[in-house]
Order: sequence, then structure tokens, then C-alpha cells
Amino acid sequence: MTAEPLSGFSIGVDLGGTNLRVAAYTQHDGLLETIHLPTRLSDGRDAVVDDLCGGIRQLHDKYIAQFPLVGIGIGTPGPIELPAGRLHNPPNLPGWDGFRLKDEIERKLGMPVVLESDANAAALAEWALGRGRSLGVDSLCMLTLGTGVGNGIILHGKVWQGVTGMGGEAGHATIYPDGPACGCGSNGCLEMYASATALVRIANQLATSGEAPGLARPDAWTARDLAIAAEEGNADARGIYEQAGRALGIGIAALVNTLNLPLYVIGGGVAAAWDILAPELFRELRHRSYVYRLTEPGAPASGSIPGGGTQVLPAELGSESGILGACLLPFPVSALASGEVTTA
Ligand SMILES: [Zn+2]
Repeated sequence: MTAEPLSGFSIGVDLGGTNLRVAAYTQHDGLLETIHLPTRLSDGRDAVVDDLCGGIRQLHDKYIAQFPLVGIGIGTPGPIELPAGRLHNPPNLPGWDGFRLKDEIERKLGMPVVLESDANAAALAEWALGRGRSLGVDSLCMLTLGTGVGNGIILHGKVWQGVTGMGGEAGHATIYPDGPACGCGSNGCLEMYASATALVRIANQLATSGEAPGLARPDAWTARDLAIAAEEGNADARGIYEQAGRALGIGIAALVNTLNLPLYVIGGGVAAAWDILAPELFRELRHRSYVYRLTEPGAPASGSIPGGGTQVLPAELGSESGILGACLLPFPVSALASGEVTTA
């Protein structure tokens, strides 16, 4: 981790189902400027791509006199096929099935772009600028608990794309085979227990059925209200988070046994309730992963692992990880491994 930061700037795009963010970034100064736009899905994908390209051009024209351009990075909801940059029935971009997003943006801009799934971009940021940097590790696996459960894997400073760009979909790992039907076509995926959407769905089901008197209320639950209720000690609300913690522990145990990485990071809004998630998460993880038991902090085989053992920790970067990761995509690995990068 001794490389010099590059002197140029990058432009990153975080394309979400609701919000579109475009930012300019340098390794020395961090985010120079961020443009916030709504994602105009109802106006069609051409309108969204026009907004996206307009934001890129605006920042390009503003900063190109000051810095050389390193490149343009774009994080998009998946599944995305790489290197073609083609979307495959993305649940958060309805109607975009088969859309060659990379080609279309490059055609409109007249410039090359680096495209990645949003979860992979977030994992890259958490590695280069968050927990990965704090612990000095070169690899990590990240789960982002939001609308769904995103997953990104960084191996030796590079996004692990898999052979078609679809690596890192552990949000759809089966936790309970007979669980609720998931949008991916399977049942009982991690996403069905640990996403914000899942927590709210479970709370509303329990409230309606009368199984959890502590959740009874006239209005439907929101993720925010449920988090507050859990923090304030509502036992039924806490129980939903504890169930999410169990599901995470089961899922992460399979990842630890498979990957043997030094760091697993949990991000997204749900991870803010880390204190409630963690006891059940670690109970399952220790039970189900002997690799974890052998390598957890303080275990005999942990001494040779950077960071001091297999670490499972909440993310450091919060909601900025998606846009920061997009900005980092064009940088070479050697520049990202620098200790000089900044989140400012
Ligand atoms: Zn699924």
C-alpha cells in the first residue's frame, strides 16, 4: 500500500431505482461535487440515460481544465452481464431487460465508461476507503442490506466479477429452503430475511396475524419506525432483527467456509442495528463455520491474517459507498491501494 495517488479526476454515477447521483472525484480531495437527480423511470430508459449523460457532461466540462480525466465509472442495479454491459431483467429497473446500458451511454457520451453492479462498486469503496483500508487487508466480501441484499467481493484489490459479471450474488443464497418466494425465482433467500424490505414485510405480517402483539398498530410499518421500535426495546421488533441476524450468520458461514477472506462487511440501512443483529449472527457463524472458529480474532490460526483474524464488521462508509465506489472504478488497482486516498 505505497502507491502514489493519481493526480486526475474521475466521474462516478450511482444509478438507483429511485435516485441518480453523479459525482466528480479526485484521490487527493475526495468528492468534489455531487449532482442529485431523481431516476425518471416512468419517462423511460432514454430519459434516464439522457439525465445520466447530462450530469457526466456537466461535471466533465467544469473540471476538465483543472485535472486530467482518469475515467468514468457507473454502478447500476444488476444482474448485469459483463463485459457486454447488458442488463438482464433487473428488478429495480423494470422494463430494462436486455438493455445494453454500457453501449448506449458510450454512444451518447462519445467516451468509454467502466460499468459494474452497484453492490460491487460499494464493496470497492468499502475496501479502498472504509474497513478494508482501516484493517489493511487486500480482500473483502460485502453484504449491503437495503431494498434487497447486495453482495460484492474484492479479491486482491479487484472486483471479482465472475466469468459473466454475475459473481457476488450471495443475497440469493438459500437460507431456509421452504421460505417465502423471492423475486429471483427461488425461496428463502437471504434477501427474504435480512433486507429492509423483508423486515418490514415480516413486521406487517406479524402485526396483521396477531402473532406479535407488540407490533400491532393502525399504520403499516416502515423500515425507519421498525428500527426505532427495536432500538427502544420493543421485543417483537427486536425479534425480527434477531431473525435477520440468524439468517446473516447462516449466509456468512457459507461465505467464510467458501472464501476464507480476512474481512466480511455488512452495510446498508439495516446494519445500523448492528448491536441487535450481532449476537445471533455470531452464534450461527461460530456454529456453522469451522473456518471461522479456527480463524476468528484471538483463535490460534488468526495471527497470520491481516487485520488479526477473520473479521465480520459493520461498514464504515454508510450511504456514500455506492457513489464513491463508482468514482473509484476507473482507477487502477495500484492507485486504489494507496494509503493516500480520501473520503472527504
Ligand atoms: Zn432470491
